[in-house]
Amino acid sequence: MKKIATLIILSILIILSTAFIVGADFWESSPEYLELETEDHSIVEEYDAAAIEPEPTPELPTPAPTPSKIAYLTFDDGPSATITPQILDILKEHNIRATFFVLPRSGVDHIFERIIAEGHALGNHSFTHNFSRLYANDGGAFFRDDTIRMHEFLYDNFGYRTNIYRFPGGSMSWSRAAIDIRRNILEELGYVDFDWHVSSADTCSSPAGRDPRALSGNIVNNANGRERLIVLMHDVSNEAVVAALPMIIEGLKEQGYGFGVLRNENAHLAHQKAIAETAALMGWVVMVNLWGI
Ligand SMILES: [Zn+2]
Repeated sequence: MKKIATLIILSILIILSTAFIVGADFWESSPEYLELETEDHSIVEEYDAAAIEPEPTPELPTPAPTPSKIAYLTFDDGPSATITPQILDILKEHNIRATFFVLPRSGVDHIFERIIAEGHALGNHSFTHNFSRLYANDGGAFFRDDTIRMHEFLYDNFGYRTNIYRFPGGSMSWSRAAIDIRRNILEELGYVDFDWHVSSADTCSSPAGRDPRALSGNIVNNANGRERLIVLMHDVSNEAVVAALPMIIEGLKEQGYGFGVLRNENAHLAHQKAIAETAALMGWVVMVNLWGI
């Protein structure tokens, strides 16, 4: 048995050796092998050129660049059955979310619901918008009740909990002492308030207040490259806002702005000194505020 096994192993070794020698001869005489052995660099160069040919770019989704500048479009005093739906259409068309500081308007439940459904933010702009009572010398008692009343209006009717506030008239229109008392109340209620950096001046009663280009210019020309820009508009009665909005959006986009909604974590934006500076630079903004924002 041992002899047979040894013979078989030897036979296999002989067959393998023969195959190797024949194979080597075959490769040595093959034209392809010879080509690689030549000093003909053109072949090599051609090969290299083919190797560095760029691969076709795979179809991967390109992540949208994160804009470093954010504009917060805000609309006060609504919603209205006339203007707000048009504003919402434009925002939808541009895929932009905005912030609506609302009052307890009646007959527009479907608009409240649409604002919420389309991902915009609702803010508390008081229940009464009554300046003399909200800022009365009462230690903030009326203001507190009014704020809670509006909070409950939004929650009871729409299941929406807001914690952002805009002072009717803007905080800069009232004494520091009056605002400090009310800010403390807001803080107790878990709220933070937001003023604005630029106003469309769309409540101005002059002809400019009805001119979409003027409204747009008031915002776009006063952005001043600010990294966080809160923009004030109204969605109640001035149709010019509807015509101005696409220009405002385009103008801000050209300046590199993306768009966001105001949230409580943006508290650091709320009381920026810059707001007061902006108001001082544009005294008319304060005048406009006093006329009924
Ligand atoms: Zn207002």
